[in-house]
Amino acid sequence: MPSTMEVKCVSDDCELDMFENHYTYDVPDDHAVGDLSCPYCGGSDLVEIEV
Ligand SMILES: [Zn+2]
Repeated sequence: MPSTMEVKCVSDDCELDMFENHYTYDVPDDHAVGDLSCPYCGGSDLVEIEV
């Protein structure tokens, strides 16, 4: 079953506070927050938020 992870962008120039990353079945096992990029600013200053 897919899991959901809350991700926050910490870039000073970004107005996006938080978004949900919905895992899908085809995500590799080693997928991590470091592999994501912000959908708003395209940066990689993302931190995972425990929910
Ligand atoms: Zn951002």
